Amino acid sequence: MDILAIHNPPETIAAGTTAVRDAAVNASERLRRGDFAAMRAQDLELMFALYDREFFGGWLGERARQETGQDVRFAVSGRMTRAGGKMSHRWRRGPDGRKQYWYEIAISSRLLATSFGEGARPVKVCGLLCPDAMAALQRLMEHEIVHLAEFLAWGESRCGGRRFKVIAARVFGHTDTKHELISPRERAAVEHRVAVGQWVSFGFRGRALTGRINRIHRRATVLVEDARGPRYTDGRRYRKYYVPVHELQPASAKG
Ligand SMILES: [Zn+2]
Repeated sequence: MDILAIHNPPETIAAGTTAVRDAAVNASERLRRGDFAAMRAQDLELMFALYDREFFGGWLGERARQETGQDVRFAVSGRMTRAGGKMSHRWRRGPDGRKQYWYEIAISSRLLATSFGEGARPVKVCGLLCPDAMAALQRLMEHEIVHLAEFLAWGESRCGGRRFKVIAARVFGHTDTKHELISPRERAAVEHRVAVGQWVSFGFRGRALTGRINRIHRRATVLVEDARGPRYTDGRRYRKYYVPVHELQPASAKG
């Protein structure tokens, strides 16, 4: 298949992506409910198959199977908070000692689950405004599909490269390669009005502790001044606590 020969007009892209959305929502209870935290690899597998049929006539899956002897695999990541998706060409040694390759597409369920809902700012993925998490999931999947298509056709893929941008624009109408999904850090900052560097208090084994937020990931890392803790670069001693963000209360600086 000549990937660079594809020039989908906007109506074709709109019709194709709507068909994928309708079929995916129809077939998956989780996607229908919009429960992206519960998304499973089989939801991604289904969506990929729909895209492959709709936009590539089944070439992606077929070519991947020819090359590796394996179907493309899928993974849902609850931990990816920076990348929205990831396409990788992976391998492991088989029982005969030979390398066995496969392609894998992973999507962050976490970013999809935290980026939408009441009060959330507008989110663009691949340059396109996403009204809901399903739209964002589709744009992420399309981006990873372009990586896979490039890999299958040329043996390498970089979204910073010109060829990638040309294909993403012609096949899916993407105008950018980045996403603006809302990280847990941003979400926490908005929802709970807490941010790195801020003083917070929280309950720990029946005591109320006060400290400063050092980092926000799945939980916030809060440094509480404690003579028994290790010395930090500011010369003071702290103990580190990992606290779920919703348990933090803004506090004033401790004197
Ligand atoms: Zn990329």
